[in-house]
Amino acid sequence: MKAAEVERFARATLREHGLHGWRFRWNTTSKRYAGWCKKTERVVEVSEWVIDLGWPEEALRDIVLHEVAHALAPEVSSHGPAWKAIAARIGADPTAYYDDDLPTPKDTEWTWRQHCPDCGWERYLLRLPRAGSSCPDCGNGAFNPALLLYIDSRDGRPVTARGVRATHTRYDALDRLPPGTEGL
Ligand SMILES: [Zn+2]
Ligand SMILES: [Zn+2]
Repeated sequence: MKAAEVERFARATLREHGLHGWRFRWNTTSKRYAGWCKKTERVVEVSEWVIDLGWPEEALRDIVLHEVAHALAPEVSSHGPAWKAIAARIGADPTAYYDDDLPTPKDTEWTWRQHCPDCGWERYLLRLPRAGSSCPDCGNGAFNPALLLYIDSRDGRPVTARGVRATHTRYDALDRLPPGTEGL
């Protein structure tokens, strides 16, 4: 499926569901999300990288349907029951996550990976964070030194913690850090 076909499908889907005044647009900046629904602007966006990375037609159509379901739903930011019901009705996958097997920019562009050993939360980074961070999911958004994220270096370079060169590339827990340093 080419970019032009995605555009045609998106415009037709918006029309089909009575979303007059809504527009389709490509997103050229996000590396993290495949699609967007910007309700205040009345815009549905698909990220360009899904085309560059060759997502199959079914997955491309699902991004559009997913975002159109947001456009139709009363709460744009939620994947709650209202969105799920609309998603199911218009033929979008109501699980709200795309298939893990599909390629994403993080497959090629990350340098560091933070991840939580407990719940699997992860984040791909180009730059090593200067300060420690803990799992936002396990800690309900608050910093908690007992829930520090692990850090992997993509190419095996040693992790530098606030200027102190570490001897290992993965920090398992705060108490394994070199004395006098804080966790990443
Ligand atoms: Zn969504
Ligand atoms: Zn976690």
